[in-house]
Amino acid sequence: MQLRQISQNALQQFEKDLELQYQAIGAQKLSLDLTRGKPSAEQLSLSDALDGLLNGDYKSLDGTDTRNYGGLDGLDEVKQLGAEILELSNTEVLVGGNSSLTLMFQAALTAYHFGLRGPDSAWKHEGGAKFLCPVPGYDRHFTVCEQLGIEMLTIPMTATGPDMDAVEAAVKADANIKGMWCVPKYSNPTGIIYSDETVERVAALGKIAGPNFRVFWDNAYVVHGHSNIRAPLANVMEACKRAGTEDSVLQFASTSKITHAGSGIAFMGASAANLKGFKQFLGSCTIGPDKVNQLRHIRLLPNIDALLSHMKQHAAIVKPRFDAVLSALDSTFNGENDFAGIGSWEKPDGGYFVSFDTQPGLAREVVRLAADAGVKLTPAGATFPYGKDPEDSNIRIAPTVPSVEEVRSAMDVFVVCTKLATVRQALANN
Ligand code: PLP
Repeated sequence: MQLRQISQNALQQFEKDLELQYQAIGAQKLSLDLTRGKPSAEQLSLSDALDGLLNGDYKSLDGTDTRNYGGLDGLDEVKQLGAEILELSNTEVLVGGNSSLTLMFQAALTAYHFGLRGPDSAWKHEGGAKFLCPVPGYDRHFTVCEQLGIEMLTIPMTATGPDMDAVEAAVKADANIKGMWCVPKYSNPTGIIYSDETVERVAALGKIAGPNFRVFWDNAYVVHGHSNIRAPLANVMEACKRAGTEDSVLQFASTSKITHAGSGIAFMGASAANLKGFKQFLGSCTIGPDKVNQLRHIRLLPNIDALLSHMKQHAAIVKPRFDAVLSALDSTFNGENDFAGIGSWEKPDGGYFVSFDTQPGLAREVVRLAADAGVKLTPAGATFPYGKDPEDSNIRIAPTVPSVEEVRSAMDVFVVCTKLATVRQALANN
């Protein structure tokens, strides 16, 4: 039997039982945290050989002394690694500092104020800019837009990527739409991978939109599979080349979740014209990136094979945590269970998040109940522009930092809170 077919009396009994379970959890005085989408200390330790690796040899392959200024777009051998990660040619890659988010912000700033194709192409001359934001999405993308005064328009996510009918209709209808956020692989937070058709249609947007439209293709989880480390994703640059739209997509990735999250290296992949426009801006902010760090990275991970086998070690640490989340959800909200169907989620096989949708109107309440029982969850609404989830239903679960045992305990709390909030809502609505 399912919850919605249950009598008022039976619901009241469920509420009583769940309240007892909730009180018992509260008595344990737990302090667990499922908020942080960052690597655990165990994962960070996989790259500790970075420390001291150079051992006094600071020369790159072409003899550059990496300690000195210069090299605005990075060392050649590191561009090569970025090219292999993003499946581009090395002339299409720029290596930046420690954060792809910084590169994304700088790219958006350049496009807005200075223009990627010269000053006349700046979005500010076209009466402002709007971005399409597939939701749920990554809160820091939304912060970039807010900071630059870019209006955000939401697009629903599906199991194959953003709803492309909605995207194409929006781009056709409004010339002020100048960009779109995409996390094409293990999307933050739903964990889905864009289908081939979605990639093809994203690449074709440049034919509908004007010449200053840019897709921000944030491939943060490109080599972060849990069972298949490098699960297939169609190559967006090749699709763009077929469509004649290679200037319409800017790609990003980093080693933040490969080596040390706070001191990795970031990549931007783009057409020659976009790289030229971006470097003009970048050259006014810096004389060059931290090439010593780039050299340490390429000595630790000299090629894509080394990098992929390193990622296998990450997967061995991360996958059991995801399994714990997914099995808790599956055993509670699927099958013949009384509570089947009261929540929905994708089953990511990579990345850092599981995205769970409660019944409408309950996400905040579940997060509150969990917090009061000692389990911190990302604030409800964080996965939507301006922090506003119109359905109040999406909750992002980030299980990488706690131990597997802690994830299990936290999920026990999560499912009780979700059930309790749902039963109370059903009672109030009856
Ligand atoms: N992009 C996405 C989709 C992310 O989830 C994250 C971090 O969680 C980042 C970018 C941050 O990347 P970086 O550390 O390279 O700035």
